[in-house]
Amino acid sequence: ASVVDSDADAIERSNEAALRPTSLDEFVGQRTVRDQLSLVLRAAVSRGATADHVLLSGPPGLGKTTLAMIVAGEMGATLRVSSGPAIQHAGDLAAILSSLDEGDVLFLDEIHRLARPAEEMLYLAMEDFRVDVVVGKGAGATSIPLSLPPFTIVGATTRAGLLPAPLRDRFGFTAHLDFYSDDELHSIVGRSAGKLGFEISGDAAAEIASRSRGTPRIANRLLRRVRDWAQVHGSGTGDLAAAQQALIVYEVDERGLDRLDRAVLRALCTRFGGGPVGLSTLAVSVGEESETVETVAEPFLVREGLMSRSPRGRIATADGWAHLGLEPPAGALP
Ligand code: ADP
Repeated sequence: ASVVDSDADAIERSNEAALRPTSLDEFVGQRTVRDQLSLVLRAAVSRGATADHVLLSGPPGLGKTTLAMIVAGEMGATLRVSSGPAIQHAGDLAAILSSLDEGDVLFLDEIHRLARPAEEMLYLAMEDFRVDVVVGKGAGATSIPLSLPPFTIVGATTRAGLLPAPLRDRFGFTAHLDFYSDDELHSIVGRSAGKLGFEISGDAAAEIASRSRGTPRIANRLLRRVRDWAQVHGSGTGDLAAAQQALIVYEVDERGLDRLDRAVLRALCTRFGGGPVGLSTLAVSVGEESETVETVAEPFLVREGLMSRSPRGRIATADGWAHLGLEPPAGALP
């Protein structure tokens, strides 16, 4: 299964690469973040210095990787990419850091998943541009301080709250990315269709936008599925019927809930009487990792008003029950 998964991942990544905006001007939405980041970068360029470290937080698919690439692009710097889970030992991080050239931008995805020793090494590197490389083992081990040329870390995390304060504090600029409006997604879909050479009508683009869970990655993915449908069953162009039919095939409902969102909501209502239930219990009942439910399904369900959080756990709202066409039992609603 892992081979298939990584193939699918690789295809997804190369599809995404083709649609990525390459400059801040091309980056749709997130106005405040864009303005602030633009200032940080322009000031650094005019000082002839490297930019401050940047921390980007927000749910998957909202543009964190894209912004990291843009930071490197706008600084005229080389981008290096790694991630928290890929760095198992402090030595892995030391190897990456000591290979950086002056001005490089190092993108660290899922930075909240760095192992503790690597995290501590990163503090020192970010603050003093220094790493202590340990040579040898046991009693004979010695630590050799190595100074590094100045560089910029762009860290990404699905939740800034998951980062320990000392790490968070070492980022000079932090920004939170929020879900996109339907209008913004509409313009992303239009732009992407242009890049794909796929003709799409305004109402079809709007239909895709409204079902994309506020997420550009999903908008681009649905657009490609609509293109598939149009090429196989339709006229080859993206009209409203093609959009609607494709979205039925891919089980995206009219509010943009996908299979996982519906599974979570359904489990909450049918297995736990609408809650309150703890997130990890809910995740187990749908066979998903807590982190996936917490960072992918939950923020969307809460934002849509289908689910709410309480100190005692997650609760289905009246709207949540209604969306599934279910009648809440007496006393289920807060
Ligand atoms: P993240 O790193 O937050 O998971 P990515 O940066 O990989 O998200 O973005 C996912 C996809 O969505 C990319 O293909 C990118 O082209 C597109 N995308 C993200 N944000 C925007 C945006 N603001 N404007 C246009 N396209 C975007």
